This record gives sequence, C-alpha cells and structure tokens, in this order.
Amino acid sequence: MAPITPTLDATIRAITNGEAPGDTCTPDLATGPWEFDATPGYGPGSSMLDPIPTGAPRQGALPRAYQEASTEDLHRRIRAAKEALGERLVILGHFYQRDEVVQHADFLGDSFQLANAALTKPDAEHIVFCGVHFMAETADILAREGQRVILPNLAAGCSMADMADVDSVESAWEQLTALYGTEPDAHGRAPVIPVTYMNSSAALKAFCGRNGGIVCTSSNASTVLEWAFQRGQRVLFFPDQHLGRNTAKAMGVPLSRMPMWNPRQPLGGSTADELVDARVILWHGYCSVHKRFSVDQVTAAREQHPDVRVIVHPECPMEVVDAADEAGSTDYIRRAVASATTPTTFAIGTEINMVNRLAAEHPQHTIFCLDPVICPCSTMYRIHPGYLAWVLDELVAGRVVNQITVEPDMQADARLALERMLAAKPRG
Ligand code: SF4
Repeated sequence: MAPITPTLDATIRAITNGEAPGDTCTPDLATGPWEFDATPGYGPGSSMLDPIPTGAPRQGALPRAYQEASTEDLHRRIRAAKEALGERLVILGHFYQRDEVVQHADFLGDSFQLANAALTKPDAEHIVFCGVHFMAETADILAREGQRVILPNLAAGCSMADMADVDSVESAWEQLTALYGTEPDAHGRAPVIPVTYMNSSAALKAFCGRNGGIVCTSSNASTVLEWAFQRGQRVLFFPDQHLGRNTAKAMGVPLSRMPMWNPRQPLGGSTADELVDARVILWHGYCSVHKRFSVDQVTAAREQHPDVRVIVHPECPMEVVDAADEAGSTDYIRRAVASATTPTTFAIGTEINMVNRLAAEHPQHTIFCLDPVICPCSTMYRIHPGYLAWVLDELVAGRVVNQITVEPDMQADARLALERMLAAKPRG
C-alpha cells in the first residue's frame, strides 16, 4: 500500500508540539509505545481508563536500537527483512493500524478477512499479525500445520475482549443452566445458545464450540442470531452488548427482552423472571473506541453539513446507531465510501486510523471522523514499526519471538464454533 502523508502519527505529533490545530485525548499518543510496556494498562488512547485484568500479557523491553531508530531506518529494516524472508513471510494489517505499519502489510482487512487471507499463502511459515491478541489467536486456529503466528507487541490486547473472561462466562452458564435446565422445548430448541463475537479470546470461542454455540462478526451478526434462534429459545451474547443489542433490535427483538448480564452480580443483575422471558442476554462489555461516539456528534455533523451521510459501526451505542443514516462493519463502511459515485460528505463513526485512510484514498469525497478528538484504539496503537522491524529481524536471524499459540484441544473446539459460523447462511 502506498504511504499516506501526513499520517495520523505525524498529525498527532504536530498537534502535541503545537504546530497544528486539533485535540488528542492524551499527549502520550506522541510517545513510543515502549514507554508503556513495563506499566500495567492498555496505554494511551481510547482504552486508557479501562481496568486491565491481572495477568494480561505484557511486552518485554524493545531493544533500544529499535526505540531510537528513525522512521526511515525502521522502514528500511522492514523492507530488507521482507525481501530476505520472501514467500516464507506474510504480514497482515488490520484497518485500525497506523499508516506506518499498514504500508508494509501484504493484506489489509478486518480480523476475519485477515485470518482467511493468511490461508491464501500456504508457503508462508511466518504470519506476522499487525492487530491485537484475539486476532492472532484466530489466525493460529485457522493456520495450516507448520505456520507460526507472531504478534509484534504482546501488550496489544483488546479491552473489549478482556471484558468477558472464560471463568466469568462459565459461571454465567452454570447459573443460567440451573435456572433453565438443559431439556429442549417442544420444537427441539435448547434453553440457551452461546454466541461470541469474533472479538473474544480463543477460550471463549472454544466454550461456544463445546456448548452448541457459534462465533459472529459484525458483518454476519444477524445471520448468526437467526441460526441461534432456530436452535435455541434464547441467546447469551458476549462480549459486546452494543453489537448484540443493535443486531437483535434490527431483527425485531424488543429491548425489554434483552436483559444485561453483569458478571459481578448474582444472575447478572437481572431477576429470574427477566432471564426466563429473555431472547438475548447481553454481556456487559463494550468497545472503548466506539463508545466515544454520541448523538450530539451526529447532530453537530448534520448542522455543519446538511447533506452529510453518517455511517457508524454497530459497536456504537444504540442511540448513535439510531441517529445515523447507516450502520455496518468496517468492510461495509469501506465499500459504502468506495461505491459512492458522486462527491459525498461522510461522517464516520469508527477508529480514526481507518477514517483518515479513507479520507486520503478518496479525495473526491469529504470524509471526517464523527469524534473531533483524536483518540485511536489504545491496543492497536501498541503496534509500532519498531516492534515490526524487531520481530522481522529476529525471524531473519532464525529466532521466533512473540509467537501466539492456542492449545490443540482449545483449537478444535474453537474451530467448531468458527465452522458453524461459516456454514450459517442468511434466510433466502
Ligand atoms: S477497536 Fe475496540 S474492539 Fe477493536 S481492538 Fe480496539 S478496543 Fe478492541
């Protein structure tokens, strides 16, 4: 992909130095992510105030040579390592990654597109995933024998995925099973089906595989919910309450039948009657990037640009999705912009790196982020060209660092839940 100038990183530095107008959510964004590797926490950006679970993976010290190298030197090192590794290497870049990383990616996409893209490179022994931890796990689950998945910075987790851990979900399942029993109803439907968003740990995907459940993405959530409703009286949906609520609401499920499950409270904080009447039980999780978008921002965009087309991601709160013109996955947003045939003003509610890139790639349109404050995803931001250059140089030297592996038993169960998703078809 051709380099984009100015990149978001350059813009953040200019704002922080007082050379450009604008606001960032923290001046720490202008600092190298290695400054935060020794500190527990998600680092600067949208998740910086989220509590991080004890035991979340930490990144060891990035060698000083990579911390101090100039951007040009890092790019040169990355290009040289790519050339040396040739077909043995594939680099995957998520839409939310910085431009400085994306320009080295062989594939750019959302998490599931990228995991599948790796399969088109069977000769690649090394899959370097410039994204976050659950994405690297999914790539490892789908990878061929002998392929290794590498996450350039181990601290690149996902605060939303961390909001549902397997112990809390197992505990919720026990409580729900005690309440509902395990017998199917007269139509053969199980009392409850677990559905996990792709943005979850491999342990949760495996939990779904073991318990008759399924995985969904933001592109296929309604197809997956239909699949689940055919097989179950209710759905336990985790970790993102907003994707669950927005999807079920669009399918006609009333809000009164979508109780929230707060893992810190008995029965998730709902009454037994509410849970018996439920169609979708929503886990108390959210994405801190998409939670920043508000109805006021939509109103302001409409006031300033009366013809604006507002498109938001379904991880946004329901009120924002209702106020927008359209809601859809990152791929939906990308295609909506690419297919607009006349110059259009778009206000977009998703991660700022992707919005900026769309604006640079489509100069015929006016494209801006609904949130005027620059606040990228904290954990996507943990991947910097310094870490990419380091893991690649190590590969050239014959050493594998930062490999992400999913245990074989967990892989088998998680793959089952992913395969159910791939087999689920929308009603014709
Ligand atoms: S954008 Fe949200 S869901 Fe995606 S990695 Fe960041 S915190 Fe997680």
